[in-house]
Amino acid sequence: MIPAEFDYHRATTVDEALTLMQQYGEEAKLLAGGHSLLPAMKLRFNTCTHLIDIGRLKELHYIREVGGDLAIGANTTHAEIAVSNLVQQKAAALAQAAAVIGDPQVRNMGTLGGSLAHADPAADYPAAVLALDATIHVKGPEGERTITAMDFFQDLYLTELDEEEIITEVRFPITDHPSAYLKFPHPASRFAVVGCAAKLTDSGARVAFTGIANAAFRDENVEDALEGKPLNAATIAEAAAQATDGEELLADLFAGANYRRHLARVFAKRTLLKAAGIE
Ligand code: FAD
Repeated sequence: MIPAEFDYHRATTVDEALTLMQQYGEEAKLLAGGHSLLPAMKLRFNTCTHLIDIGRLKELHYIREVGGDLAIGANTTHAEIAVSNLVQQKAAALAQAAAVIGDPQVRNMGTLGGSLAHADPAADYPAAVLALDATIHVKGPEGERTITAMDFFQDLYLTELDEEEIITEVRFPITDHPSAYLKFPHPASRFAVVGCAAKLTDSGARVAFTGIANAAFRDENVEDALEGKPLNAATIAEAAAQATDGEELLADLFAGANYRRHLARVFAKRTLLKAAGIE
């Protein structure tokens, strides 16, 4: 299918993109890798008439250590995140999530900022971003602000981001604790039917899911069950068995809610074992 007609604007700076966003208001959309927006436009799910291309902005394209954080520019592609030694060492769950997104074409074009802004309920990054306790840095007409991962994901395709704001960077606090991400991919789309990220902490672990609810979330059942306990195969199995208790889960033709709940428990256990280095 071919999208409806639109005007194309290539921004040369973030500030120029912000000005264009204000100029065209509701008719405008940012374009980064285009691998969520363009399919949506072809299907007429999105009918914006002005595309503001920020995909080539170098100022949003980097992976570096800043103070005690790993800082990744919004335009960094999934492929770059997957193979980065720095990300693999400091935020393994993110690199592992990036490595299993879609196929090579999607990974070479799609960006971290685009994926987070799109907030597909089956996207991989949200679980990793939550478990790694990231902050999302954004710039808008009112200036810059940071949003915690916990506040960012609100509902189906809905985030805390304002219409005229641009994600500029995502920061991950660096600690010595390991992390991991695993997913059960949909066999056709490769999106997560269930995706689970875990990061160990001083007193337990942060555990987050994607693919199973309207928005990615941290699972307090599992986290509370691990709090203050030694991490071993028995404590992990016991905690993982409580995953998604009390949560209303998504159901579709491929996977009903009970099946997703079962998968969530299996993947919580596998992900925690992987993060803890227990075979
Ligand atoms: P775009 O499509 O350019 O934009 C998406 C949305 O984000 C738009 O609304 C845009 O306006 C907004 N936006 C973009 N950048 C910014 C920014 N910096 N600040 C604010 N708003 C911004 N994803 C997965 O997680 N797992 C998968 O397995 C997976 N499989 C896929 C398979 C296929 C065949 C395809 C086509 C896509 C798949 N995706 C998957 C989605 C893919 O990861 C997209 O690349 C990603 O969701 C969007 O990133 P993008 O850079 O392409 O954003």
